[in-house]
Amino acid sequence: MPQPDQTRHLVTAVPGPRSLAMQAERDAHLADGLGRTLPVFVERAGGGIVEDVDGNRFVDLASGIAVTSVGASHPEVARRVAEQVERFTHTCFLVTQYEGFVEVAAALNRLTPGEHAKKTALFSTGAEAVENAVKIARVHTGRPAVVVLGHAYHGRTLLTMSMTAKNVPYKEGFGPFAPEVYRAPSPYPFRWPSGPEHAAAEALAALRELVVSQIGAHHVAAIVVEPIQGEGGFVVPPPGYLAGVAELAAEHGIVLVADEIQTGLGRTGAMFACDHEGIVPDLVTTAKALGGGMPLAAVTGRAEIMDAVPAGGLGGTYSGNPVACAAALGALEAIEREGLVERAREIEAAVLPRLQALVGQVPVVGEARGRGAMLAVELVRPGTDEPAPEVARAVAAACAQQGVLTLVCGTFGNVIRLLPPLVISPELLADGIDVLVAAITEAAGADAAA
Ligand SMILES: *Cc1c(COP(=O)(O)O)cnc(C)c1O
Repeated sequence: MPQPDQTRHLVTAVPGPRSLAMQAERDAHLADGLGRTLPVFVERAGGGIVEDVDGNRFVDLASGIAVTSVGASHPEVARRVAEQVERFTHTCFLVTQYEGFVEVAAALNRLTPGEHAKKTALFSTGAEAVENAVKIARVHTGRPAVVVLGHAYHGRTLLTMSMTAKNVPYKEGFGPFAPEVYRAPSPYPFRWPSGPEHAAAEALAALRELVVSQIGAHHVAAIVVEPIQGEGGFVVPPPGYLAGVAELAAEHGIVLVADEIQTGLGRTGAMFACDHEGIVPDLVTTAKALGGGMPLAAVTGRAEIMDAVPAGGLGGTYSGNPVACAAALGALEAIEREGLVERAREIEAAVLPRLQALVGQVPVVGEARGRGAMLAVELVRPGTDEPAPEVARAVAAACAQQGVLTLVCGTFGNVIRLLPPLVISPELLADGIDVLVAAITEAAGADAAA
């Protein structure tokens, strides 16, 4: 099947009649706890376009939450998956092995930050990778405690939901939570009480106090940070913060885990977001973009830490599934061969100035921020820093009605985040941003009138 035409095109209202009919079936058969962003059903997707069953083509500024960096039907991913499925779909790597698993591991050992000896273990989901990073850090250090940040998102399993900051919808009613998870403040520049210029130093002081005085550094196995926070609001830490965390971790023999599940593999205009700050974490978790749309996740890190867990302690039935590994090899090849890291920087250069121009001009825009193709607009009540989640929802809804797919995030639900596929054409991207900018301007007018 050819890729969808790379233009925005609406032929029905959104959602259209076929999507509406499927929606009724969905509501009858699916658990209500499964949320949805846009009630359309997809026929095909690729490049920068998602096409629904009614023939509407949406500009994709979401990438299925930062997954389809190479597009949702990259020919190299499709070819390798088809070839692999014909040979075998599964053996369980723990039973009989296959080359793709080793090739993906070798690629991650090469691409992740640092020149030290590295090893990798593959899993299926991001949450599983984070859980395993903690397991590995605990065995390596013989310590129980895990330190995470405010506004963190690490997944929905018991341990990772305990590590995630936001209550509704991720934690509400799901307790009791996993023990030995401690939270330090996130140095959120836009919301730091004494001003952004103090965020790094004060957040580091608070982290140090938590680790050294409250928990006791000799009890801390790992500090887990997203080098740019994702679900929590695309929070870019102030310069120096991550280096300070790395220093504290090194000082006390604590394993520094960079959760690069959303930021990794080119998304932020560097292969890894840690590279922007020259940070070399001990362990890196990847997922999302890694599998080119197939479920694949990894923990990569210092060989001596990774090897702390004895044989049999890591793995799972589907860990590093061969079809997912084949897809990953196609995606990684596309990222490197097509210069998609550079492309993410071009996306930033094309989009971020347009969003930053809204600050001060459109009173609901508090801040525009981000790196590479991970960009966001934080919406506030005019003249304040009070979150305006209703404006974010209105903007996302207006965009969807005009054929542009965006996502809302943030602890306060007031951040519009942009995660376009890195392969999106400049014209399609510009078209999507035109719609977004108009929607923000319009929502600001409606908000002022209300
Ligand atoms: C998405 C995400 C996860 C969880 O990944 P799943 O595959 O949904 O389990 C963990 N950490 C970060 C930073 C993420 O963005």
